[in-house]
Amino acid sequence: MSGWLRVVGLGPGPERWITPEVSEVLAAASDIVGYHVYVSRLVFAEDQRIHRSDNGDELSRAVHALELTANGGKVVVVSGGDPGVFAMAAAVFEAMEHGPLDWRALDVAVLPGVTAMLAAAARLGAPLGNDFCAINLSDNLKPWAVIARRLSLAAQGDFVMALYNPASSARPAQVHDAFAILQAELPETTIVVFARAIGRTDEAVHVTTLGKADPSLADMRTLILVGCQTTRLLERANAGPWIYSPRRLEVDP
Ligand code: SAH
Repeated sequence: MSGWLRVVGLGPGPERWITPEVSEVLAAASDIVGYHVYVSRLVFAEDQRIHRSDNGDELSRAVHALELTANGGKVVVVSGGDPGVFAMAAAVFEAMEHGPLDWRALDVAVLPGVTAMLAAAARLGAPLGNDFCAINLSDNLKPWAVIARRLSLAAQGDFVMALYNPASSARPAQVHDAFAILQAELPETTIVVFARAIGRTDEAVHVTTLGKADPSLADMRTLILVGCQTTRLLERANAGPWIYSPRRLEVDP
């Protein structure tokens, strides 16, 4: 029996943000592997085996998924958002790199999903309409000095920034350090958005500026967007402002 492995993302919000391709492989799977919070959002058939794990053991989850595939399983590894953005796809290839050579011949595919940055941008208007970057603020897998340097250089490069994993109960302070770095580089009028739980029933969007931003608004369900110098607000009477970054860059380089 030949197995297969599909690494998928469920999007950041409601089920309708899951792509049809991902729904198809979830229905066809014999084994579903994932962080219990993501897996618990899904409904399974009785004969499907569900392998729930805790946050943080991504590599052992990936090894397990490759073992199941090598044994003929039809395996789906589940992430939130897109599987390639700070998620399980890289863990699967890390496991493959250090695992038996046979694993490289397995039928493996990564299926794209909607990442939090794109869902948040769509809610706000078009903040990613000009050049942007994504930075993971967690220092679980890289030194804080690297993160600090990247924040500083992204600010100097006038990129719009999407800041993933800004804070958690284990790392409440670093988001304050991150804002101090940005405040040293950028004008206090720079637009900042705390986009929390986008697409969920408790979604909350807080639009502010770098000078007024309260970093303690960020938690592990928040994506922070920092505008570039041309990012602007279009106020409207009936809702929060539209936010967009013009395609044309009107500042001196
Ligand atoms: N693979 C995921 C990201 C995993 S990192 C993706 O592509 O979206 C987890 C971080 O993603 C969170 O700390 C938060 O910064 C962001 N995130 C995930 N879902 C979100 C949502 N619904 N609203 C806002 N941010 C979200």
